[in-house]
Amino acid sequence: MNNYIECNLNNIKKNIYELSIKYKRNFSDITIVAVSKYQEYEKINTAYSYGQIDFGENYIQEWQEKVNFFQDNLPNLNWHIIGNLQKNKAKYLTDKVYCLQSLDSVELAKEIEKKGKFEKKLKVLIQLQVDKNDQNKSGISIEQAQILRDYICKSSKISFAGFMGIGPLNAETSKRKDLYYSFIQNAKTLWNETDSSNLQPILSLGMSSDYEEALECGSNMLRIGTAIFGARNKL
Ligand SMILES: *Cc1c(COP(=O)(O)O)cnc(C)c1O
Repeated sequence: MNNYIECNLNNIKKNIYELSIKYKRNFSDITIVAVSKYQEYEKINTAYSYGQIDFGENYIQEWQEKVNFFQDNLPNLNWHIIGNLQKNKAKYLTDKVYCLQSLDSVELAKEIEKKGKFEKKLKVLIQLQVDKNDQNKSGISIEQAQILRDYICKSSKISFAGFMGIGPLNAETSKRKDLYYSFIQNAKTLWNETDSSNLQPILSLGMSSDYEEALECGSNMLRIGTAIFGARNKL
């Protein structure tokens, strides 16, 4: 019934494989996060059965419903929270979160440390601005990111794993690629000033319509929703 999901996943992987050769990247270093917000449980199940492990959700309540629904039927599934998180929702973060990609303030980090219900250290990415002129104001400046990074690096409850960015999808391709190259450069500079600089940071950039460009510019984590699952509908 959901055969197209297998087909989409295979096509995207094949495409990424070819691009990774073209751009001299390691295919195995590139992670696809299947963005499942507003997608039916059945579709998640299908993608999982074809070997998809990483899934991204934007809304805490929707994510919780999915976690409850699947319980432990989908072992080793990695849930990434990729949507903006309000401080009053920090208490809903549990060990079921594999990675919070949208950390964007010290205040939120403190709230997570105080209210989060997890035993293991929570893996987080800093959501770094891609475009200063972004209307949606998503992500923080380099200066703010330095402060947040230094805070996370001292935390005993959250662990720093890299950066996430959302591109300006309506910009021209050449403009967008310039922004993506500087995003990756800035992220690497911020990372290399930490004690983790011997490890590779997660660089989460690129969605259904721009993942090829993001990959070319150095992204190693692609968050792909509609190109895998088809159009979103409310549950
Ligand atoms: C929804 C969403 C995606 C996936 O978008 P598609 O265009 O469906 O691939 C990726 N990242 C974030 C932060 C999102 O909110």
